Amino acid sequence: MTKNSQTGGDIWGRNWSDTSYWLDGLTPPNMPETSLPREVDVVIVGSGYTGLNAAIETARGGRSTLVLEAETPGWGCSTRNGGQISTSIKPSLDKLAARHGRDRAVAIRSEGCAALKWIEERIKADGINCDFRRAGRFHAAHTPAAFEELARDSEKLRRDEGIEAHMIPRAEQRGELGTDVYHGGALFPAHSALNPALYQHGLLKTALAAGAQVLGQTPVLAISRSAARHEVTTARGTVLARDVIVATNGYTTALTPWQQRRVIPIGSYVIATEPLAKDLIDRLFPTDRVVSDTCKVVYYYRASPDRTRILFGGRVSATETDTHVSGPRLHADMCRVFPELSAAKISHSWMGTVAYTFDELAHTGTHEGVHYAMGYCGSGVSMASYLGMRMGQKVLGLAEGRTAFDDLPFPTRPFYTGRPWFLPAAVAWYRWRDTRQRQQAAG
Ligand SMILES: Cc1cc2nc3c(=O)[nH]c(=O)nc-3n(C[C@H](O)[C@H](O)[C@H](O)COP(=O)(O)OP(=O)(O)OC[C@H]3O[C@@H](n4cnc5c(N)ncnc54)[C@H](O)[C@@H]3O)c2cc1C
Repeated sequence: MTKNSQTGGDIWGRNWSDTSYWLDGLTPPNMPETSLPREVDVVIVGSGYTGLNAAIETARGGRSTLVLEAETPGWGCSTRNGGQISTSIKPSLDKLAARHGRDRAVAIRSEGCAALKWIEERIKADGINCDFRRAGRFHAAHTPAAFEELARDSEKLRRDEGIEAHMIPRAEQRGELGTDVYHGGALFPAHSALNPALYQHGLLKTALAAGAQVLGQTPVLAISRSAARHEVTTARGTVLARDVIVATNGYTTALTPWQQRRVIPIGSYVIATEPLAKDLIDRLFPTDRVVSDTCKVVYYYRASPDRTRILFGGRVSATETDTHVSGPRLHADMCRVFPELSAAKISHSWMGTVAYTFDELAHTGTHEGVHYAMGYCGSGVSMASYLGMRMGQKVLGLAEGRTAFDDLPFPTRPFYTGRPWFLPAAVAWYRWRDTRQRQQAAG
């Protein structure tokens, strides 16, 4: 859908779009006409990275597999994200060790590295053309204190977990990023980049080629258990399945109330600029890395894979907002980092809903006979893919399906039903604190 400029003066490109930049000019894979079967081995709810990677495993393992998607396949975050791949585990080793013991903590943290390594292997093995690159990440310090903390953390990561990380002092920052607003940062050479929608389309083709059936525009309305089967009620009728995998992440609803009480839906917002001069992109992103910063309400950005545009993302309002409103705010933040972009116009402004959890960990398991994997806390490109794949292996009864996340308690809070009433106040406070810290650091 395209819209004319409504707010923010002349920062909008003509006919800017409120859908993901990644979908521009992409033709969805050919989908065979499928009617709802009466019975299958496995039903998967959701057609993003979690659902499709699970489907590839179960279909290849010889199980009749049906993926049901409420909208068009890939409608959720998996075609809208920043395409940045990290090691995806937010809590530090020490924090996890305090909660779960040292061995479990090491095992959980290792899964982050395993997911990153595995996604590269899947993309190569299945010939998925999605601009995957070991680009490296520059994680920029918003204050000198944040730089010192990053330096301590990087040292620990190298020493305790063998994760490569180097500090880049402010004096050398321009070699990584064309700005002086940061106080240096950490470089993670293994972190990677891809085109998220091309990746989702590649997974969809791979799942179809493996024999999975994928039905769009088919919301699942109810899941109930009868004897050894699940009865899955959809807008097109009912299908029986031995196994059901719920892969709805930030779009989890009252269909699965137990999971809904455990994930916190949060909007994340992105803009893309219109094409920019090559020498400008070369100056701003000389090493073509993905970038994030140490603000509590993080900004993440990068050049497009063809190095013609900048994609700039973050959370720019306390409450959920419209992409007409988030666009100008992100533009202003982008210009704060790169004043040279003040004349750059927005060609796309979009958002999607991620799922946070109360312990900042992803969760996977089986509740009342229904399998699930979700709660990637905004870092799901590799982790959703990996846990989806492992869930598929579990359904096949394979020992390698086990992960360090299995059987972790999946916390909720009293009276929480899936509507994060506490979020606006928390985001407002953290954004205010980030801004204050930045201003103090700038003197
Ligand atoms: C703006 C943005 C930027 C991001 N940037 C990054 C990044 O740079 N790096 C990173 O690692 N992660 C990032 N993420 C997070 C990442 O995209 C997600 O973690 C990941 O895509 C989750 O995949 P998924 O398959 O679990 O869920 P999704 O891709 O969201 O798919 C869930 C699907 O379930 C469907 N569904 C829900 N209910 C039903 C129902 N009842 N019946 C049928 N279907 C249903 C929905 O329609 C949806 O299509 C970002 C997310 C957003 C929104």
